[in-house]
Amino acid sequence: MSIATREQAVLDGVEKRLYIGGEWREADGGGTLAVEDPATGEALCEIADATPADATTALDAAVASQAEWAATPANRRAEILWRAFELLNERADDLALVMTLEMGKALAESKAEIAYAAEFFRWFSGEALRIEGSYKVAANAASRVLVMRQPIGPSFFITPWNFPTAMGTRKVGPAIAAGCTMVWKPAQQTPLSAFALAQILEECGLPGGVLNLITSSSSSSVAGPLIADPRLRKLSFTGSTEVGRKLIAQAADNVLKVSMELGGNAPFLIFDDADLDAAVEGAMIAKMRNIGEACTSANRFHVAAGLADEFASRLAKRMGGLRVGRGTEEGVEIGPLIDDDQRGKVAELVDDAVGKGAKAILGGSTIDGTGYFFEPTVLGAVPAEARVLREEIFGPVAPIASFDSEQEAVAAANDTEYGLVAYVFTRDLKRALRVCESLETGMIGLNQGMVSNAGAPFGGVKQSGIGREGGNEGIEEYLETKYVAINV
Ligand code: NAP
Repeated sequence: MSIATREQAVLDGVEKRLYIGGEWREADGGGTLAVEDPATGEALCEIADATPADATTALDAAVASQAEWAATPANRRAEILWRAFELLNERADDLALVMTLEMGKALAESKAEIAYAAEFFRWFSGEALRIEGSYKVAANAASRVLVMRQPIGPSFFITPWNFPTAMGTRKVGPAIAAGCTMVWKPAQQTPLSAFALAQILEECGLPGGVLNLITSSSSSSVAGPLIADPRLRKLSFTGSTEVGRKLIAQAADNVLKVSMELGGNAPFLIFDDADLDAAVEGAMIAKMRNIGEACTSANRFHVAAGLADEFASRLAKRMGGLRVGRGTEEGVEIGPLIDDDQRGKVAELVDDAVGKGAKAILGGSTIDGTGYFFEPTVLGAVPAEARVLREEIFGPVAPIASFDSEQEAVAAANDTEYGLVAYVFTRDLKRALRVCESLETGMIGLNQGMVSNAGAPFGGVKQSGIGREGGNEGIEEYLETKYVAINV
């Protein structure tokens, strides 16, 4: 089968309609929206464009299914998740192709995301069986204290385009495990991966109405009525801090329980005692994974002054050796950015830094032709006032600044309203612990360039978010605590 024929066959196998109450259906009024290939700028297909009425129908279905789903044995919920974990891995090649076509990243990266996404189902399959309560004798012995954990109820998920499957399974997995029903609205740029995931869950026996999937060209108009609906009990959002702030404000009217996985501005600190080879390896992962379009991307490198030039030239050599192209092509490592707006923003940040005195050691420009490509870029001697050190880049750009002391490095790292993740490279154990304790972030990669792990609590502090996904903490976001005071 030719590559183009295989791409078409895989796309044809993916549903393109809304999934509500266990049925695939067109949007109310039959509206559609186009999904684009960011490597070519061409439309891949049309999908259903939900209206606010569709969103309400989806919530109706979630509400109608809640009691029965909550009463479904944990063993059954765990089995569905486990089977879905297996199917995701069995079908990784096709799922990765769908993801690459709509999102752009290289096939190997899409496959890695499918494996990562599947891990949340494996992890929460186990967590479904470990929802515990407690019973104790009150301190004065006059009564007994019974504590029970119950599903919070119908939940609403909004996810971004950068990790189209994993950002879904990180919410859908714990919700299924906890016994919550849900409405999921993925990003309009990457709906196909969400449809494919819903198809797999349906095949694994997830009852109709537990997961309801709506795609829309107008996210605020479908989200608004759901967040305002008193039947909704939980809002979990992954996306930008700007949109997260608005959603928290909307959720306040209903005092909704919220989880917010928001933007980042990750510092990558390299101390003078670091293993430089390991730091370059870590930097390649932390910077170039997902074309730099990750909330965990190293946004700025702060390097001990004595190592800064050497690190910059080694990183430039590695980044300059990466092959850029359409993610479906053999050997391509770096795909296009998601759209022209995102590419324009990256170019603007690079121009601002260079205009303020930074030196472009590698790249620095958009790549002409079709698609939204940008050159892997390394900027040296970036001055403190450059916007690129303060704003989330979301592209393959590595700005490097230097520091003279540990204190200065930590102060620079913390000088941001964000607090998602930081990376620290040092061989000195005392310094490692000192710095880790001082950093104002929810996560730290210590001598490694990646923190993502289904069994660990992922999330940020400050304006990077509220709550944790994954780990033992992940299921807590979907459980309520009820206490019964027992008269004995
Ligand atoms: P975004 O613009 O905030 O969009 C995220 C999602 O919110 C999309 O589904 C979008 O729908 C929807 N949305 C936008 N405005 C909305 C509104 N007014 N009401 C309801 N929904 C709305 O973010 P993005 O550009 O897709 O993703 C990149 C951002 O996500 C970055 O800041 C990144 O750091 C963050 N992120 C954080 C994490 C984490 O775990 N902390 C993980 C991944 C990404 P449309 O598609 O229709 O616009």
